[in-house]
Amino acid sequence: AETILEIRNLTTGFLSDQGMVKATDRVSLTLDKGQTLCVVGESGSGKSVTALSVVRLVDYAGGVIMDGQILFNGEDLAQKRQSEMLRIRGSLIAMIFQDPMSALNPVFTVGDQIAEVLQAHKHLNRKEAWHKSVEMLRLVGIPAPEIRAKQYPYEMSGGMCQRVVIAMALSCNPQLLIADEPTTALDVTVQAQILELLLQLKREFRMSMLLITHDMGVAAEVADRIAVMYAGTVVEEGTVEEIFGHPRHPYTMGLLRSIPGMDGNRGEELYTIKGAIPPISRLPSGCRFHSRCPYVMETCREKEPPLLETAAGHKAACWLSGTVGATQSATAAEDQ
Ligand code: SF4
Ligand code: MG
Repeated sequence: AETILEIRNLTTGFLSDQGMVKATDRVSLTLDKGQTLCVVGESGSGKSVTALSVVRLVDYAGGVIMDGQILFNGEDLAQKRQSEMLRIRGSLIAMIFQDPMSALNPVFTVGDQIAEVLQAHKHLNRKEAWHKSVEMLRLVGIPAPEIRAKQYPYEMSGGMCQRVVIAMALSCNPQLLIADEPTTALDVTVQAQILELLLQLKREFRMSMLLITHDMGVAAEVADRIAVMYAGTVVEEGTVEEIFGHPRHPYTMGLLRSIPGMDGNRGEELYTIKGAIPPISRLPSGCRFHSRCPYVMETCREKEPPLLETAAGHKAACWLSGTVGATQSATAAEDQ
């Protein structure tokens, strides 16, 4: 398959009282054309920083790309000037965030806002842009789009607003859509509809998608491949079947056991991984997960495990990755 995005050893730092701290540390990810890669992890894992680095919005958040490459169609975005990135973000790569209200301007109608994007990037005149804007609202499943186009964001529900944001993102026909927790702020039923919409549009527009989520259930719905991040690093990466069927990293196993309906749990008593992600300014020695890991060994406290292939197209960063998993399953964790 052809690769659209290849992140190689991305290290993004932020200046803090303790000097430069790395929010992502040698992150490598590959997204093939037409596919969906989900980056999963708790908050503080570096997944949003990874996404913001790709589009270089991280620069505006005080982040510095210290090392690595972000190859988009073979061109390194890490080396681009912001003026070039502005053009790329408006046409080739679109991004949507958790809170649709933050992406919309409260004082303009939604139709005008989409039309403005179309006028700027597609060089349509006002009338053409308005028509296309109504068309886009119809495409994202907004009923009575001619009427809705004349409404302001506050007149719409959160789910409707997120549909407007998606319409805006797609109005430039991007090759890559980056969505950071696009459904987290929405009701569960609306969440499912928005995910379904994203998948449908991805197919229709022949896009590739990088989806950031803390929710393994969401990843299960939409991902072709999943990358699990922990404390700034990728700890496991593979196809959705491999990750759900044969998880190799104890952290991934913990995430899977915390999904309602998985592993026999009915959501009454969900498993939670004890402890919290260490702050990036005070990372532990060795494996970053060791203080929370039910399988921790002496080596784990001393040496950081490398991300190695455990099966075809499946990688894990754990000193036990060859032995934990299929055989031991997660039973050891149960005894903790
Ligand atoms: Fe647990 Fe050790 Fe594997 Fe880290 S390397 S996840 S501490 S077993
Ligand atoms: Mg985030």
